[in-house]
Amino acid sequence: MDFTQVDHIVSQVEKSIYETFPFDPKSELLIGVDLGTAYVVMVVLDQKNNPIACEMEFAQVVKDGLVVDYIGATQIVRRLKEKLEQRLGQSLLRAAIAVPPGTGAKDSQTHRYVVEGAGLEVISILDEPTAANAVLQVNNGVIVDIGGGTTGLSIIKNGEVIYTADEATGGTHLSLVLAGNYRVKFEEAENIKKDPAQKKEVLAVVRPVIQKMASIIETHIADFDVDRIYLVGGTCCLEGFEDVVEKEIGIATQKPHNPFLVTPLGIAMNC
Ligand code: ATP
Repeated sequence: MDFTQVDHIVSQVEKSIYETFPFDPKSELLIGVDLGTAYVVMVVLDQKNNPIACEMEFAQVVKDGLVVDYIGATQIVRRLKEKLEQRLGQSLLRAAIAVPPGTGAKDSQTHRYVVEGAGLEVISILDEPTAANAVLQVNNGVIVDIGGGTTGLSIIKNGEVIYTADEATGGTHLSLVLAGNYRVKFEEAENIKKDPAQKKEVLAVVRPVIQKMASIIETHIADFDVDRIYLVGGTCCLEGFEDVVEKEIGIATQKPHNPFLVTPLGIAMNC
């Protein structure tokens, strides 16, 4: 699959962190809120899905897809909303949100209450890999969204989601292994993981964790006719991640240039 279009729009979202793009103040903006294990991200699009602005904050208010710090989460969402309103000069009213696949109704409602507590009406709740497919437009294959604490996957056949699953593994596990290996604190391990200068060494240390993640994916897709794996989520930013997965499972694996912002963008597209 050619990711040129995907890479273009995702790079626009990236730019919209630093720069507010022009928009028609008379038409309502589309908002996507991604309440993640590692980051809370809010993406603003215009009615034609053009990125307008984006704000994010590192956060530890969600664990394994569940809200563990309700007040902290609400405060962060409110802060991001206020920053965006200041940048845009108008109030933000409605948003779409996403949860890992398999999140129960009660836990999904908690995500909703967090966002509504911050002053946004939630008009749609999606599962994360399905949200990502609004961007990727995959017709056949599996989308695997590897975030901070969760790995969600959606198998798509002829454009329809036919299977979803969620596992409690993600980038946090990579960082814990790095912290143990280098005998450093978690926060420092996070920095090492994201440092392009150390990518070769990092990949060597975390390879067994990625192989384990690949075996989890393999188990889920075993009963389906899947011939391509599409990786999204911040953890897949690690260079060479896709090669380890491809080698382990033996199925062609690809990712966009920046897999990190695909799901938040897809959430906003579903607003
Ligand atoms: P979840 O989906 O599990 O609730 P999340 O939405 O916070 O979590 P993402 O924002 O997709 O997940 O990804 C966050 C993870 O991606 C973190 O573990 C972070 O360390 C990792 N990450 C971000 N950038 C990079 C990078 N350049 N290299 C490696 N890992 C990265």
